[in-house]
Amino acid sequence: MYHLECIRCGARYPRDEIIYTCPKCDGLLDVVYDYSQIKLTRDDLKGPLSVWKYKALLPVAGEPVTLKEGGTPVYNIKNIGKDIGMKDAHVKHEGMNPSGSFKDRGMTVGVSKALELGMKSVACASTGNTSASLAVYGARAGIPVIVLLPQGKVALGKVAQALMHGSKVISIKGNFDDALRLVREMCIEYGIYLLNSINPYRLEGQKTIGFEIVDYFNWEVPDRIILPVGNAGNITAIYKGLNEMKKLGIIDRIPKMTAIQAEGSAPIVKAIKTGAKDIVPEAHPETVATAIRIGDPVNAVKALNAIRTSGGTAETVTDDEILAAQKLLAVKEGIGVEPASAASVAGLIKLRKMGVIASDERVVCVTTGHLLKDPETVIKMCDKPLEVDATKEAIKKVMGW
Ligand SMILES: *Cc1c(COP(=O)(O)O)cnc(C)c1O
Ligand SMILES: [Zn+2]
Repeated sequence: MYHLECIRCGARYPRDEIIYTCPKCDGLLDVVYDYSQIKLTRDDLKGPLSVWKYKALLPVAGEPVTLKEGGTPVYNIKNIGKDIGMKDAHVKHEGMNPSGSFKDRGMTVGVSKALELGMKSVACASTGNTSASLAVYGARAGIPVIVLLPQGKVALGKVAQALMHGSKVISIKGNFDDALRLVREMCIEYGIYLLNSINPYRLEGQKTIGFEIVDYFNWEVPDRIILPVGNAGNITAIYKGLNEMKKLGIIDRIPKMTAIQAEGSAPIVKAIKTGAKDIVPEAHPETVATAIRIGDPVNAVKALNAIRTSGGTAETVTDDEILAAQKLLAVKEGIGVEPASAASVAGLIKLRKMGVIASDERVVCVTTGHLLKDPETVIKMCDKPLEVDATKEAIKKVMGW
Protein backbone atom coordinates (compact mmCIF):
# COMPACT_ATOMS: atom_id res chain seq x y z
CA MET A 1 0.00 0.00 0.00
CA TYR A 2 1.42 3.35 -1.05
CA HIS A 3 0.48 6.71 -2.53
CA LEU A 4 2.17 9.83 -3.88
CA GLU A 5 2.63 12.78 -1.55
CA CYS A 6 3.80 16.36 -2.15
CA ILE A 7 6.81 17.22 0.01
CA ARG A 8 5.83 20.91 -0.03
CA CYS A 9 2.07 21.06 0.68
CA GLY A 10 1.41 17.49 1.82
CA ALA A 11 -1.30 16.83 -0.80
CA ARG A 12 -1.84 13.11 -1.45
CA TYR A 13 -2.44 11.51 -4.83
CA PRO A 14 -3.33 7.97 -5.85
CA ARG A 15 -0.40 5.83 -6.93
CA ASP A 16 -1.64 5.45 -10.51
CA GLU A 17 -1.98 9.17 -11.25
CA ILE A 18 0.47 10.17 -14.00
CA ILE A 19 2.05 13.22 -12.36
CA TYR A 20 5.67 14.20 -11.80
CA THR A 21 5.20 17.21 -9.50
CA CYS A 22 2.29 18.36 -7.33
CA PRO A 23 -0.60 19.65 -9.48
CA LYS A 24 -1.49 22.10 -6.69
CA CYS A 25 1.86 23.69 -5.81
CA ASP A 26 4.42 22.15 -8.23
CA GLY A 27 6.32 20.65 -5.27
CA LEU A 28 8.33 17.41 -5.60
CA LEU A 29 6.54 14.13 -4.93
CA ASP A 30 7.51 11.18 -2.74
CA VAL A 31 6.24 7.63 -2.78
CA VAL A 32 4.88 7.08 0.73
CA TYR A 33 4.09 3.56 1.98
CA ASP A 34 1.84 2.45 4.78
CA TYR A 35 4.82 1.43 6.90
CA SER A 36 2.65 -0.18 9.58
CA GLN A 37 1.63 -2.74 6.93
CA ILE A 38 5.20 -3.62 5.91
CA LYS A 39 6.56 -6.46 7.97
CA LEU A 40 10.20 -6.57 7.02
CA THR A 41 13.02 -7.69 9.31
CA ARG A 42 16.72 -8.48 8.96
CA ASP A 43 15.79 -12.16 8.85
CA ASP A 44 13.70 -11.60 5.72
CA LEU A 45 16.71 -10.05 4.03
CA LYS A 46 19.18 -12.93 3.96
CA GLY A 47 20.90 -13.87 0.71
CA PRO A 48 22.77 -12.07 -2.06
CA LEU A 49 22.37 -8.36 -2.71
CA SER A 50 20.15 -7.21 -5.59
CA VAL A 51 17.59 -4.51 -6.30
CA TRP A 52 14.61 -6.88 -6.18
CA LYS A 53 15.65 -8.39 -2.87
CA TYR A 54 13.97 -5.32 -1.35
CA LYS A 55 10.69 -5.72 -3.25
CA ALA A 56 8.70 -5.18 -0.06
CA LEU A 57 9.86 -1.55 -0.21
CA LEU A 58 9.46 -1.08 -3.97
CA PRO A 59 6.31 0.14 -5.75
CA VAL A 60 5.92 -2.69 -8.27
CA ALA A 61 3.38 -5.49 -7.90
CA GLY A 62 4.05 -7.96 -10.72
CA GLU A 63 7.10 -9.38 -12.45
CA PRO A 64 9.61 -6.57 -13.01
CA VAL A 65 11.52 -5.73 -16.19
CA THR A 66 14.96 -6.79 -15.01
CA LEU A 67 18.51 -7.48 -16.15
CA LYS A 68 19.64 -8.50 -12.64
CA GLU A 69 20.75 -5.06 -11.54
CA GLY A 70 22.31 -4.21 -8.21
CA GLY A 71 24.46 -6.55 -6.15
CA THR A 72 27.43 -4.35 -7.00
CA PRO A 73 30.76 -4.92 -5.24
CA VAL A 74 32.07 -2.99 -2.26
CA TYR A 75 35.84 -2.63 -2.11
CA ASN A 76 38.00 -1.42 0.75
CA ILE A 77 40.32 1.09 -0.96
CA LYS A 78 43.30 0.10 1.18
CA ASN A 79 46.03 1.80 -0.81
CA ILE A 80 44.35 5.18 -1.14
CA GLY A 81 43.21 4.72 2.46
CA LYS A 82 46.82 4.30 3.60
CA ASP A 83 47.79 7.55 1.87
CA ILE A 84 45.07 9.52 3.66
CA GLY A 85 45.27 7.68 6.98
CA MET A 86 42.06 5.67 6.78
CA LYS A 87 41.47 1.94 7.26
CA ASP A 88 37.76 1.86 6.66
CA ALA A 89 37.27 3.74 3.38
CA HIS A 90 35.26 1.87 0.75
CA VAL A 91 33.97 2.20 -2.75
CA LYS A 92 30.65 0.75 -3.89
CA HIS A 93 31.18 0.33 -7.60
CA GLU A 94 27.89 1.05 -9.31
CA GLY A 95 29.67 0.90 -12.66
CA MET A 96 29.19 -2.88 -12.35
CA ASN A 97 25.47 -2.66 -13.14
CA PRO A 98 24.10 -4.06 -16.45
CA SER A 99 24.46 -0.81 -18.43
CA GLY A 100 27.46 0.36 -16.42
CA SER A 101 25.86 2.88 -14.05
CA PHE A 102 23.57 3.07 -11.02
CA LYS A 103 20.80 4.43 -13.25
CA ASP A 104 19.79 0.80 -13.88
CA ARG A 105 18.36 0.57 -10.36
CA GLY A 106 15.99 3.41 -11.12
CA MET A 107 15.15 2.16 -14.59
CA THR A 108 14.29 -1.42 -13.65
CA VAL A 109 11.68 0.05 -11.30
CA GLY A 110 10.70 2.97 -13.55
CA VAL A 111 10.17 0.90 -16.70
CA SER A 112 8.32 -1.80 -14.75
CA LYS A 113 6.09 0.98 -13.42
CA ALA A 114 5.57 2.40 -16.92
CA LEU A 115 4.18 -0.97 -18.05
CA GLU A 116 2.06 -1.32 -14.92
CA LEU A 117 0.57 2.12 -15.61
CA GLY A 118 -0.18 1.12 -19.20
CA MET A 119 2.17 3.67 -20.76
CA LYS A 120 3.10 3.01 -24.39
CA SER A 121 6.43 4.85 -24.64
CA VAL A 122 9.07 6.34 -22.35
CA ALA A 123 11.44 9.31 -22.56
CA CYS A 124 14.16 11.16 -20.70
CA ALA A 125 16.64 13.99 -20.94
CA SER A 126 20.12 12.84 -20.09
CA THR A 127 23.76 13.72 -19.56
CA GLY A 128 24.31 10.19 -20.92
CA ASN A 129 23.82 7.39 -18.41
CA THR A 130 20.10 7.88 -17.95
CA SER A 131 19.64 7.51 -21.71
CA ALA A 132 21.90 4.45 -21.87
CA SER A 133 19.98 2.80 -19.07
CA LEU A 134 16.53 3.71 -20.36
CA ALA A 135 17.55 2.42 -23.81
CA VAL A 136 18.51 -0.91 -22.26
CA TYR A 137 15.37 -1.34 -20.15
CA GLY A 138 13.08 -0.05 -22.90
CA ALA A 139 14.58 -2.69 -25.20
CA ARG A 140 14.07 -5.35 -22.54
CA ALA A 141 10.44 -4.26 -22.10
CA GLY A 142 9.82 -3.88 -25.81
CA ILE A 143 8.60 -0.27 -25.70
CA PRO A 144 9.82 2.74 -27.69
CA VAL A 145 12.35 5.06 -26.03
CA ILE A 146 13.05 8.71 -26.86
CA VAL A 147 16.10 10.44 -25.36
CA LEU A 148 17.17 14.09 -25.50
CA LEU A 149 20.89 14.75 -25.15
CA PRO A 150 22.86 18.00 -24.89
CA GLN A 151 24.82 18.16 -28.15
CA GLY A 152 28.54 17.51 -27.93
CA LYS A 153 28.50 16.99 -24.15
CA VAL A 154 27.72 13.30 -23.81
CA ALA A 155 30.50 10.75 -23.32
CA LEU A 156 31.00 8.41 -26.29
CA GLY A 157 30.18 5.11 -24.57
CA LYS A 158 26.82 6.41 -23.38
CA VAL A 159 25.74 7.63 -26.83
CA ALA A 160 26.86 4.29 -28.27
CA GLN A 161 24.59 2.45 -25.83
CA ALA A 162 21.55 4.64 -26.45
CA LEU A 163 21.95 4.15 -30.20
CA MET A 164 22.71 0.43 -30.16
CA HIS A 165 19.78 -0.51 -27.95
CA GLY A 166 17.42 1.12 -30.41
CA SER A 167 16.33 4.41 -28.84
CA LYS A 168 15.34 7.47 -30.82
CA VAL A 169 18.26 9.75 -29.96
CA ILE A 170 17.75 13.50 -30.32
CA SER A 171 20.71 15.79 -29.80
CA ILE A 172 19.63 19.32 -28.85
CA LYS A 173 21.58 22.55 -29.21
CA GLY A 174 21.43 23.34 -25.51
CA ASN A 175 22.54 21.96 -22.14
CA PHE A 176 20.99 19.28 -19.91
CA ASP A 177 18.70 21.73 -18.15
CA ASP A 178 17.25 22.80 -21.53
CA ALA A 179 16.78 19.15 -22.52
CA LEU A 180 14.93 18.36 -19.30
CA ARG A 181 12.59 21.34 -19.69
CA LEU A 182 11.75 20.25 -23.24
CA VAL A 183 11.22 16.59 -22.45
CA ARG A 184 8.94 17.41 -19.51
CA GLU A 185 6.70 19.49 -21.76
CA MET A 186 6.78 16.85 -24.50
CA CYS A 187 5.87 14.00 -22.16
CA ILE A 188 2.83 15.83 -20.81
CA GLU A 189 1.66 16.91 -24.27
CA TYR A 190 2.02 13.46 -25.89
CA GLY A 191 1.32 11.14 -22.95
CA ILE A 192 4.83 9.70 -22.89
CA TYR A 193 6.13 8.40 -19.55
CA LEU A 194 8.93 10.61 -18.20
CA LEU A 195 11.78 8.73 -16.56
CA ASN A 196 14.04 11.46 -15.28
CA SER A 197 14.79 11.54 -11.57
CA ILE A 198 11.90 13.95 -11.02
CA ASN A 199 9.81 10.77 -11.40
CA PRO A 200 9.37 9.54 -7.82
CA TYR A 201 9.09 5.90 -8.90
CA ARG A 202 12.51 5.95 -10.50
CA LEU A 203 14.02 7.20 -7.26
CA GLU A 204 12.48 4.24 -5.44
CA GLY A 205 14.79 1.95 -7.39
CA GLN A 206 17.82 4.05 -6.61
CA LYS A 207 17.27 3.89 -2.87
CA THR A 208 18.41 0.25 -3.02
CA ILE A 209 22.03 1.49 -3.12
CA GLY A 210 21.55 2.50 0.51
CA PHE A 211 19.85 -0.81 1.34
CA GLU A 212 22.73 -2.77 -0.16
CA ILE A 213 25.34 -0.72 1.70
CA VAL A 214 23.88 -1.38 5.15
CA ASP A 215 23.05 -4.98 4.21
CA TYR A 216 26.66 -5.55 3.08
CA PHE A 217 27.96 -4.36 6.46
CA ASN A 218 25.51 -6.64 8.29
CA TRP A 219 23.29 -3.71 9.25
CA GLU A 220 26.16 -1.81 10.86
CA VAL A 221 25.49 1.61 9.41
CA PRO A 222 28.61 3.34 8.02
CA ASP A 223 29.40 6.82 9.32
CA ARG A 224 29.22 8.47 5.95
CA ILE A 225 28.13 7.96 2.35
CA ILE A 226 29.79 10.19 -0.25
CA LEU A 227 28.22 10.76 -3.65
CA PRO A 228 28.80 12.80 -6.79
CA VAL A 229 25.74 15.01 -7.19
CA GLY A 230 24.17 16.25 -10.41
CA ASN A 231 20.38 16.31 -10.50
CA ALA A 232 20.51 15.21 -6.85
CA GLY A 233 18.15 12.27 -7.27
CA ASN A 234 20.53 9.64 -6.02
CA ILE A 235 21.51 11.26 -2.72
CA THR A 236 17.83 11.93 -2.09
CA ALA A 237 16.82 8.37 -2.88
CA ILE A 238 19.48 6.74 -0.69
CA TYR A 239 18.55 9.00 2.22
CA LYS A 240 14.84 8.21 1.83
CA GLY A 241 15.46 4.48 1.70
CA LEU A 242 17.64 4.45 4.79
CA ASN A 243 15.02 6.44 6.67
CA GLU A 244 12.47 3.81 5.73
CA MET A 245 14.74 1.07 7.08
CA LYS A 246 15.13 3.05 10.28
CA LYS A 247 11.35 3.44 10.54
CA LEU A 248 11.00 -0.34 10.17
CA GLY A 249 13.62 -0.89 12.89
CA ILE A 250 16.10 -2.61 10.55
CA ILE A 251 18.82 -0.01 11.18
CA ASP A 252 19.28 2.41 14.06
CA ARG A 253 20.85 5.49 12.47
CA ILE A 254 21.46 7.35 9.23
CA PRO A 255 24.92 7.98 7.73
CA LYS A 256 26.10 11.52 7.08
CA MET A 257 25.03 12.15 3.50
CA THR A 258 27.90 13.95 1.78
CA ALA A 259 27.52 15.60 -1.62
CA ILE A 260 30.40 16.33 -3.98
CA GLN A 261 30.01 18.61 -6.98
CA ALA A 262 32.44 19.90 -9.58
CA GLU A 263 33.61 23.45 -8.96
CA GLY A 264 32.04 24.73 -12.19
CA SER A 265 28.68 23.15 -11.44
CA ALA A 266 27.99 23.40 -7.73
CA PRO A 267 24.60 24.94 -6.85
CA ILE A 268 23.94 22.44 -4.04
CA VAL A 269 27.32 22.99 -2.40
CA LYS A 270 26.82 26.75 -2.54
CA ALA A 271 23.40 26.49 -0.88
CA ILE A 272 24.79 24.27 1.89
CA LYS A 273 27.72 26.63 2.51
CA THR A 274 25.54 29.75 2.62
CA GLY A 275 22.70 28.11 4.53
CA ALA A 276 20.23 29.08 1.81
CA LYS A 277 16.80 27.45 1.70
CA ASP A 278 17.00 26.75 -2.01
CA ILE A 279 19.65 26.76 -4.70
CA VAL A 280 20.53 29.48 -7.17
CA PRO A 281 20.69 27.70 -10.54
CA GLU A 282 24.03 27.82 -12.36
CA ALA A 283 23.28 29.11 -15.88
CA HIS A 284 26.45 27.76 -17.53
CA PRO A 285 27.62 24.66 -15.66
CA GLU A 286 31.00 23.32 -16.80
CA THR A 287 33.05 20.29 -15.82
CA VAL A 288 34.92 17.39 -17.37
CA ALA A 289 32.57 15.17 -15.32
CA THR A 290 29.71 15.47 -17.81
CA ALA A 291 27.38 13.24 -15.76
CA ILE A 292 27.20 15.96 -13.10
CA ARG A 293 27.24 18.94 -15.46
CA ILE A 294 23.83 20.16 -14.24
CA GLY A 295 23.11 23.74 -13.22
CA ASP A 296 19.52 23.43 -11.99
CA PRO A 297 19.13 20.12 -10.11
CA VAL A 298 15.45 19.18 -9.95
CA ASN A 299 15.76 17.36 -6.63
CA ALA A 300 17.64 20.20 -4.91
CA VAL A 301 15.11 20.76 -2.13
CA LYS A 302 15.05 17.07 -1.21
CA ALA A 303 18.85 16.85 -1.36
CA LEU A 304 19.44 19.90 0.85
CA ASN A 305 17.17 18.31 3.43
CA ALA A 306 18.98 14.96 3.19
CA ILE A 307 22.40 16.56 3.68
CA ARG A 308 21.32 18.81 6.54
CA THR A 309 19.12 16.38 8.45
CA SER A 310 21.72 13.61 8.33
CA GLY A 311 24.47 15.93 9.59
CA GLY A 312 26.34 15.58 6.32
CA THR A 313 28.14 18.17 4.26
CA ALA A 314 28.83 19.27 0.70
CA GLU A 315 32.08 20.19 -0.99
CA THR A 316 33.41 21.08 -4.42
CA VAL A 317 36.33 19.51 -6.23
CA THR A 318 38.17 20.82 -9.27
CA ASP A 319 38.34 18.99 -12.59
CA ASP A 320 42.04 18.31 -11.91
CA GLU A 321 41.17 16.74 -8.55
CA ILE A 322 38.47 14.62 -10.22
CA LEU A 323 40.84 13.32 -12.91
CA ALA A 324 43.60 12.70 -10.35
CA ALA A 325 41.19 10.63 -8.24
CA GLN A 326 40.03 8.72 -11.31
CA LYS A 327 43.64 7.81 -12.04
CA LEU A 328 44.40 6.91 -8.41
CA LEU A 329 41.45 4.50 -8.31
CA ALA A 330 42.53 2.97 -11.59
CA VAL A 331 46.24 2.63 -10.81
CA LYS A 332 46.29 2.02 -7.05
CA GLU A 333 43.10 -0.01 -6.62
CA GLY A 334 42.30 -1.49 -10.02
CA ILE A 335 38.90 0.19 -10.01
CA GLY A 336 37.85 1.79 -13.30
CA VAL A 337 35.32 4.60 -13.00
CA GLU A 338 34.17 7.53 -15.12
CA PRO A 339 35.11 11.09 -14.10
CA ALA A 340 31.86 11.98 -12.28
CA SER A 341 32.21 8.87 -10.14
CA ALA A 342 35.74 9.82 -9.15
CA ALA A 343 34.37 13.07 -7.72
CA SER A 344 33.23 11.08 -4.67
CA VAL A 345 36.77 9.86 -3.99
CA ALA A 346 38.26 13.29 -4.79
CA GLY A 347 35.82 14.62 -2.19
CA LEU A 348 36.88 12.01 0.34
CA ILE A 349 40.53 12.94 -0.11
CA LYS A 350 39.80 16.66 0.18
CA LEU A 351 37.50 16.39 3.21
CA ARG A 352 39.99 14.10 4.95
CA LYS A 353 42.80 16.63 4.36
CA MET A 354 40.54 19.40 5.67
CA GLY A 355 39.92 17.34 8.81
CA VAL A 356 36.17 17.14 8.18
CA ILE A 357 36.38 13.35 7.88
CA ALA A 358 38.03 11.59 10.83
CA SER A 359 40.63 8.84 10.31
CA ASP A 360 38.50 6.18 12.01
CA GLU A 361 35.28 6.84 10.10
CA ARG A 362 33.73 4.10 8.02
CA VAL A 363 33.05 5.79 4.70
CA VAL A 364 31.46 4.47 1.51
CA CYS A 365 32.04 6.41 -1.72
CA VAL A 366 29.54 5.56 -4.44
CA THR A 367 31.33 5.31 -7.77
CA THR A 368 28.40 5.81 -10.06
CA GLY A 369 29.59 4.76 -13.53
CA HIS A 370 32.16 2.61 -15.33
CA LEU A 371 35.48 3.72 -16.83
CA LEU A 372 34.45 2.61 -20.33
CA LYS A 373 31.60 5.11 -20.40
CA ASP A 374 33.98 7.92 -21.27
CA PRO A 375 36.98 6.53 -23.18
CA GLU A 376 37.78 9.88 -24.80
CA THR A 377 38.64 11.56 -21.50
CA VAL A 378 40.77 8.57 -20.53
CA ILE A 379 42.72 8.58 -23.79
CA LYS A 380 43.44 12.30 -23.37
CA MET A 381 44.82 11.70 -19.86
CA CYS A 382 47.11 8.77 -20.64
CA ASP A 383 50.28 8.28 -22.70
CA LYS A 384 49.80 6.75 -26.11
CA PRO A 385 50.69 3.05 -26.58
CA LEU A 386 54.30 2.57 -27.72
CA GLU A 387 54.29 1.74 -31.44
CA VAL A 388 57.12 -0.51 -32.60
CA ASP A 389 57.98 -2.96 -35.37
CA ALA A 390 56.83 -6.55 -34.83
CA THR A 391 60.25 -7.78 -33.69
CA LYS A 392 61.74 -8.81 -30.36
CA GLU A 393 64.55 -6.32 -30.95
CA ALA A 394 62.11 -3.42 -31.19
CA ILE A 395 60.35 -4.43 -27.96
CA LYS A 396 63.70 -4.83 -26.15
CA LYS A 397 64.67 -1.37 -27.34
CA VAL A 398 61.57 0.43 -26.00
CA MET A 399 61.77 -1.56 -22.76
CA GLY A 400 65.45 -0.65 -22.33
CA TRP A 401 66.42 -4.33 -21.90
C1 LIG B 1 23.46 10.42 -13.08
C2 LIG B 1 24.87 10.37 -12.60
C3 LIG B 1 25.31 11.11 -11.49
C4 LIG B 1 24.44 12.10 -10.78
O1 LIG B 1 23.36 11.54 -10.10
P1 LIG B 1 22.15 12.48 -9.64
O2 LIG B 1 21.13 11.56 -9.14
O3 LIG B 1 21.72 13.21 -10.88
O4 LIG B 1 22.69 13.43 -8.63
C5 LIG B 1 26.60 10.94 -11.07
N1 LIG B 1 27.45 10.11 -11.71
C6 LIG B 1 27.07 9.41 -12.78
C7 LIG B 1 28.07 8.52 -13.45
C8 LIG B 1 25.77 9.50 -13.26
O5 LIG B 1 25.42 8.80 -14.33
ZN1 LIG C 1 1.90 20.41 -3.31
